[in-house]
Amino acid sequence: MRLCSACLLGLRCVWDGTDSYKNDKVIEILKKEVLIPVCPEQLGGLPTPRLPQQIQGRSGEKVLDGECKVRNKSGEDVTEQFIRGAEEVLKIARQLNVQEFIGKSKSPSCGCGKTYDGTFSDALIVGDGVTTALLRKNGIRVISAESL
Ligand code: SF4
Repeated sequence: MRLCSACLLGLRCVWDGTDSYKNDKVIEILKKEVLIPVCPEQLGGLPTPRLPQQIQGRSGEKVLDGECKVRNKSGEDVTEQFIRGAEEVLKIARQLNVQEFIGKSKSPSCGCGKTYDGTFSDALIVGDGVTTALLRKNGIRVISAESL
C-alpha cells in the first residue's frame, strides 16, 4: 500500500480541473496494489479549479523552513495552504503506516527532484515540492511517477 498523487489516479484535482491519468506505469501498479489518492493542495483548503501556483525560486524544503513562499499566478500567498496540505498527507501516511509516496513530477506540492522556478515560464529548477519535502523529512520515501 502506497500513497499517490490523486491526479495520477484519475481524480480531477489539477489546478485547471483536469486529471493526470496518463502514466501507464502508475495505471499498471493500480491494477495490482492499493494506491491511496491524496491531493495536498485540496487537503490544504485550496479550491479546484484554482490559479496555477509555484514555489518562488527555491525548493519545498525552504518553504518548510520559512525561507520562501508559494504564490499563485496573481501573486497571492498560498504558503499556508501548501504547508497545511503537506501536514494532512503526512497525517494520512502515519495513520495508515504507509512508507512510500508516488508523486506527480514537477508539482510545487508533489514534485520530486525538480519543480518550476516561480516565474510561471515553465522553467525548472532542482528541488522537491512542499509535500515531498515534508514526507522525506519524516522518513517517508518519495518517488516521482516519471521515474517509475
Ligand atoms: Fe496532483 Fe499533487 Fe497537484 Fe493535487 S497537488 S493536483 S495531487 S500534483
